Amino acid sequence: MLEIKNLHARAEDNEILKGVNLQVRPGEIHAIMGPNGSGKSTLSHIIAGREDYEVTEGEILYNGKDLLDMDIEERAAEGVFLAFQYPVEIAGVSNKYFLRTAMNSVRKYHDEAPIKRKEFLALLKENLEKLGMDKVMMDRSVNEDFSGGEKKRNEILQMAMLQPTLAVLDETDSGLDIDALKIVADGVNALRSPERATIVVTHYQRLLDYIVPDHVHVLAGGKIVRSGDKSLAFELEEKGYGFLQEEAVAT
Ligand code: ADP
Ligand code: MG
Ligand code: MG
Repeated sequence: MLEIKNLHARAEDNEILKGVNLQVRPGEIHAIMGPNGSGKSTLSHIIAGREDYEVTEGEILYNGKDLLDMDIEERAAEGVFLAFQYPVEIAGVSNKYFLRTAMNSVRKYHDEAPIKRKEFLALLKENLEKLGMDKVMMDRSVNEDFSGGEKKRNEILQMAMLQPTLAVLDETDSGLDIDALKIVADGVNALRSPERATIVVTHYQRLLDYIVPDHVHVLAGGKIVRSGDKSLAFELEEKGYGFLQEEAVAT
């Protein structure tokens, strides 16, 4: 589904990614971990299509297509979903309207009719209940005056409504309490299916107590320095990231 080959990227004069290789198949959950400043958010922003970064080498294929050649709307329409560390606030646009517009723009891209109001409301109700969200939040502006936990829920609601093919969640665990972590995990787990894949970017192992990844990668110094299964996350929690640097020095 996603194939990242020898990806090099920079922002301003700063070379951030220095040859990232990653393959994600349908049905898989990948966790990307790594020390602060290692390029995790940069990688997710590039998949999302943010323009602050310049790809200087390498490529990203998404279902065989050149992802870097697709604009943000196209990526979204093709099923790529990005949830960000700091969800944006959009004044004057209600959550409900935002969600329906987002769903309809995906439909339009695929030459499908807009979702019927009744169908939309039923789906919204079902997901709000699952996430324990109050429906009055749907009439408020996107993320405006939401608490951290409410923003997190809202992000997962967007994901649940849009049913992306590839979801990328960039999580700073800072400020996320156990309840919020569980919401994220439940959202990711609910999306698990043979056709979909998720990449969870996370600094801490704690989130992975609730989401069991198929593959864990460590990004350090702009490269994936280690890949393994979920046991790698436990090893990192136990030893910290330092041991990887020691290994690198020893070899
Ligand atoms: P992580 O998410 O792993 O903590 P980031 O991808 O946010 O790491 O950042 C990696 C490095 O790139 C950091 O040194 C950061 O300061 C730098 N960086 C990130 N974004 C930009 C930018 N837009 N312009 C310049 N430098 C940036
Ligand atoms: Mg950071
Ligand atoms: Mg980050």
